[in-house]
Amino acid sequence: MRYLVISDIHANLEALHAVLQYRDYDHILLLGDIVGYGASPEETVQQVQRLNPLAAVRGNHDKVVAGLEGGDTFVSNARKAALWSQSQLSVDSLKYLRGLPAGPVQVDSQVSIVHGSPRDEDEYLLPWDREGPSLDALATPICFFGHTHIPTIFFRLGETTCSRQVQPPAKLSLTPESARYLINPGAVGQPRDGDPRAAFLVFDADTLAVEFLRVDYDIETSQQKIRDAGLPAFLWQRLARGD
Ligand code: ZN
Repeated sequence: MRYLVISDIHANLEALHAVLQYRDYDHILLLGDIVGYGASPEETVQQVQRLNPLAAVRGNHDKVVAGLEGGDTFVSNARKAALWSQSQLSVDSLKYLRGLPAGPVQVDSQVSIVHGSPRDEDEYLLPWDREGPSLDALATPICFFGHTHIPTIFFRLGETTCSRQVQPPAKLSLTPESARYLINPGAVGQPRDGDPRAAFLVFDADTLAVEFLRVDYDIETSQQKIRDAGLPAFLWQRLARGD
């Protein structure tokens, strides 16, 4: 069984299409933030529904765009984009976003998914935080998370917890019988690790290999759509930098 693990699409349809050129998988796991920031919210939600992920959780932007939260904690650029996205979405798409579960969602005996962290769906787990996350709360030995837009792996072997920012392409072998993992594939639609290419990962549940991947996409078209929507310039400018 091979899982395509994607997160933080952020209404970037061009980036999502580029990732979907990868076809060697059985099921999709979606870690939240389908919308927000990008300028193709309706097409992106429809595309995600067609993909029919095996498991999906909501992100903080999905909650605000769906009207479940007010967005008071958002910086102004994010709030503007969320309100604009809300105005662009059909009743069906808003309903889909509203129906997404909060994490953690258990996928199988080995794997669960969250948006932020296992204890708080809105918590940021950054690889350089000195106090790493607790991996004790994990219901499964492997948990995929998103939210930070930085490809990351936290793992605990015995008493030691390690964290590492991952520079794709990279392939790692997991040992879930003796270790616990929190793994972030990076963002499809708004990478923030200095590499503007769309990020995703593939987990093979039989060989226990996890592969972090990057793919080029049509950044100019995504940028133009954000400009045409009248959204803040920072939101299109950052796509070319990947920050
Ligand atoms: Zn996000």
